[in-house]
Amino acid sequence: MTALRRKAVIRGCPMKPLDCKSRCDICNKPRNKGNHTKCSAERQARAQEKGNEQ
Ligand SMILES: [Zn+2]
Repeated sequence: MTALRRKAVIRGCPMKPLDCKSRCDICNKPRNKGNHTKCSAERQARAQEKGNEQ
């Protein structure tokens, strides 16, 4: 599979300064490092908590 050779872009975005989106807001580690499966679950849980505030 060499058909994916294109300009060096990260997830379809041109190179730009690192912003908060490149960093996991749950564990504060770069998203391209480590496993953030739990983090995304945690993020969803938090979002739900926010939505279901009582
Ligand atoms: Zn994380």
